[in-house]
Amino acid sequence: MKIIDLRSDTVTHPTPEMRRAMFEAEVGDDVYGEDPTVNKLEAMAAEKTGKEAALFITSGTMGNLTAVLTHTHHGNEIILGDGAHIFLNEVGGAAALGGVVMRTVPNDSHGRLDPADVERAIRGKNIHYPETTLLCLENTHNRCGGAILTPQYTREICGLAHRHGLKVHLDGARIFNAAVALGVPASTLAADADSVSFCISKGLSAPVGSLLCGTKEFIERARRVRKMLGGGMRQAGIIAAAGIVALETMIDRLAEDHANAKRLAAGLGNIKGISLAQETVETNIVMFDLSAELPVSDFIAGLTAQGVKVGARGGNLFRAVTHRMISTSDIDEALARIETVSKVIRK
Ligand SMILES: *Cc1c(COP(=O)(O)O)cnc(C)c1O
Repeated sequence: MKIIDLRSDTVTHPTPEMRRAMFEAEVGDDVYGEDPTVNKLEAMAAEKTGKEAALFITSGTMGNLTAVLTHTHHGNEIILGDGAHIFLNEVGGAAALGGVVMRTVPNDSHGRLDPADVERAIRGKNIHYPETTLLCLENTHNRCGGAILTPQYTREICGLAHRHGLKVHLDGARIFNAAVALGVPASTLAADADSVSFCISKGLSAPVGSLLCGTKEFIERARRVRKMLGGGMRQAGIIAAAGIVALETMIDRLAEDHANAKRLAAGLGNIKGISLAQETVETNIVMFDLSAELPVSDFIAGLTAQGVKVGARGGNLFRAVTHRMISTSDIDEALARIETVSKVIRK
C-alpha cells in the first residue's frame, strides 16, 4: 500500500536534476564568501524577491530569527499575529535569543492583521514602555490554511508600520505559492517589506535551506548574526545547488499543488463529519475539522492503518498539505481511504 503523506510539503525529496546539480556543484568556503554556487543562489534569491542582496540560511526558523535579531535590540517589542509561525512554532527563539517582547494581535481568517489593532499596539514614547521596532507578516499564512496576503494589503500595513518608524519582516516561507496563485512576481509581494525570507525546502522540493533577502546593508549585518548563531556554513554549494534548480524549475508547478488542494478540500467537504476549517483554499494547505461523530483518536488510528498521513493540529483540527510527491490520483485515493475510515468509526 502506498503511503500518502500529506503532513507537509517539507517531506518532498530532491529531484534527480537536483541530485545531479549537487554532485557536480562547484564549491568553496562560504564563510570566506568563496562558494560560487551559494553566491549564485543568493543573487537569484535577491533578484526573485526584488531585494539588493540575500543570505543562504539553514532553515526558515533560523532565517526568521536572524531577521528579528538583525532588525531589533534586546528589550524591543515586535508585533506579530497570534497565529504567526514565529510566535507559535519557533521555540520562542525571538524572545529567548533575541530578548524581544512578542506582542500579538489577532490574525483574521485570511492571515491578516487589522491595521487598527497594529496601530494600537505600537508603543508611544513613555519611560515605562519597551520600544516597538518591528512588525512581522506571513505570506502565505500557514496556520490560516495557506491564506494569501495581497500586494494591496501588504502595502497598506507596511505603510502604517513605516509611518511609525517600524521595520517590516515578511515570513515568506511559501511566498512563491502566493505568487503563483495570484499570478504576480514574488517581488511584488515583498516590495513593501524591509526583509523577506522564503524556504526552498518546502513545495520547491530542495533538501535544505531558506533565503533571507533585504538591502545590502541589512544582509551584511544579518551575515554576522547568522555566524553568531552558528549558521556559517563552509562548502554549502552542495545544498545551494539544489536551491538553484528549485528556483529555476519548481515554482510554476506549484499551481498543480493548488489544484490538488482544492480537489482534496472539495472531497473532504463531502464526507459526513468532516468540515473545512477555512472559507476558501487559496494555495496548498487544507485545514479541516471533525464533528463529534468522528472521534479524533479513532480517526488518527484509522488513517495510520490506511497509510494516510495528515497533521494533527490539536483538538479536532487537522492539516493536509499538497506537494510534488502527491498526484491527483493520490488525492482521490486518500479521499477514498478517509471516507472508509470515517464510515467505520462514525458514532
Ligand atoms: C515552515 C515555516 C517556517 C520555518 O521553516 P523551517 O525550515 O521548518 O524552520 C517559517 N515560517 C513559516 C510560515 C513556515 O511555514
